[in-house]
Amino acid sequence: MNSKKVASINKDICVCCGACFQECPMSAISSESGRFMKVDPSICVGCGRCAGICPAGCITVSDRKPA
Ligand code: SF4
Ligand code: SF4
Repeated sequence: MNSKKVASINKDICVCCGACFQECPMSAISSESGRFMKVDPSICVGCGRCAGICPAGCITVSDRKPA
């Protein structure tokens, strides 16, 4: 189920615009207290669509760490 890549969001930069939330085909992104967004790594498939659309450039897609 897990892909080799996973997205993560820098909450210090996120402006909570919701673009990544709308773009994610897996619904892996949700709001954390309405202040910033977070990725559920157990759902994310690492497609990178969220990182491509984020206007603040705060999403990175990187290799998953070995379990
Ligand atoms: S990398 Fe793809 S699946 Fe993962 S959170 Fe971003 S849009 Fe969703
Ligand atoms: S697209 Fe970027 S700035 Fe907008 S909510 Fe997502 S992570 Fe935050």
